[in-house]
Amino acid sequence: MSFSADELLWLLLPLAAASGWLVARFEQKRQARRSFDLPSAYFKGLNFLLNEQPDKAIEVFIRVLEVNSETVETHLALGNLFRRRGEVERAIRIHQNLIARPSLDRDQRSLALLELGQDYLKAGLFDRAESLFLELAEIRVHSEQALKLLLHIYQQEKEWEKAIAVTRKLARVSGRNMDEMIAQFYCEQADLDYARKNYSIARERLKQALQADDKCVRASMLLGDIDAQEGKFRKAIDNWRRIEEQDVHYLGEVAERIADGFRKLNDEEGLYEYFRATLQRHGGVSLALTFADVISSREGVETAEKFIVDWLRRSPNVHGLHKLLELNLVRAPNSARNDLLLLKGIIEELRAQHLGYACGQCGFRGKSLHWLCPGCSRWNTIKPVREE
Ligand SMILES: [Zn+2]
Repeated sequence: MSFSADELLWLLLPLAAASGWLVARFEQKRQARRSFDLPSAYFKGLNFLLNEQPDKAIEVFIRVLEVNSETVETHLALGNLFRRRGEVERAIRIHQNLIARPSLDRDQRSLALLELGQDYLKAGLFDRAESLFLELAEIRVHSEQALKLLLHIYQQEKEWEKAIAVTRKLARVSGRNMDEMIAQFYCEQADLDYARKNYSIARERLKQALQADDKCVRASMLLGDIDAQEGKFRKAIDNWRRIEEQDVHYLGEVAERIADGFRKLNDEEGLYEYFRATLQRHGGVSLALTFADVISSREGVETAEKFIVDWLRRSPNVHGLHKLLELNLVRAPNSARNDLLLLKGIIEELRAQHLGYACGQCGFRGKSLHWLCPGCSRWNTIKPVREE
């Protein structure tokens, strides 16, 4: 084990402060003709650390602690350092030993508990970490941090009920608005219920999601999906359409579903009118592509081609070009087919760069829509690339 210059400096700072204080005390005590060898013990411990003998170093530090409890901060720093280096067992030993000191005052004890909880968390001992954080959440100065750590545990464990309760508390304590996150937790529960075909429970949870955050696109999407599963296509369309007011970037995600809903209802006129009017308001890529198909089946390929060409003139993009080639291929004579197919292949490669989803916070790219970013673990930061 080796320490970087930064880590050493970080570790030495409190020690230097302590030894300055100690030297002063040492002088006083020498005058009182009493021996006091704390600094030398510390430097012995530090020496073990530098010589990559961390266990011997821990022994020395722990012995010193029994002599003097006013160097608690150094021990906290040392434990923290071990944890950050991934040496969790050593961190646990240091923190457990600290907590066992009867001379510790209340603040020092709760600080040590907070550190120990984080050691447990890092070691994957979630139950032990949880009970420490629950205790600390009741102490005002540690409440916010303890709640954050509890939230982390409940998300890892997918305990959404507890995650919702703790997020509400955290929002109160920190003064932050966390409604978006709460809505996502309801959606997580609803997803599970939906998969088990418990549609009425799922629907209840999604309503709670929308109560927490009326901009929750995910809830509208899933409500629409449930309605469609139950054959209620008019209601499904209403739910999916709501996304336009919630966050129009996601409307393209349900363009195909909305079109299918109208088709199931045999409402050709409604289908055409919805896409025509919505495109006039927004002009999103997915909407335009779906509308091209609607036009093609209603008025024929030529009219669809004309629509795409007009659209491409206004906003040139690879998706439209790809669609145009697709439509062209339908009517192309055999002599032109091979050229068109070649061109389509090239466009498809270009198009791949403009597909999928990206996180606005960390830049993570993926092929499917995640509500929780796998890159930065934030909720609701991933959007479709195509609509940019
Ligand atoms: Zn991210």
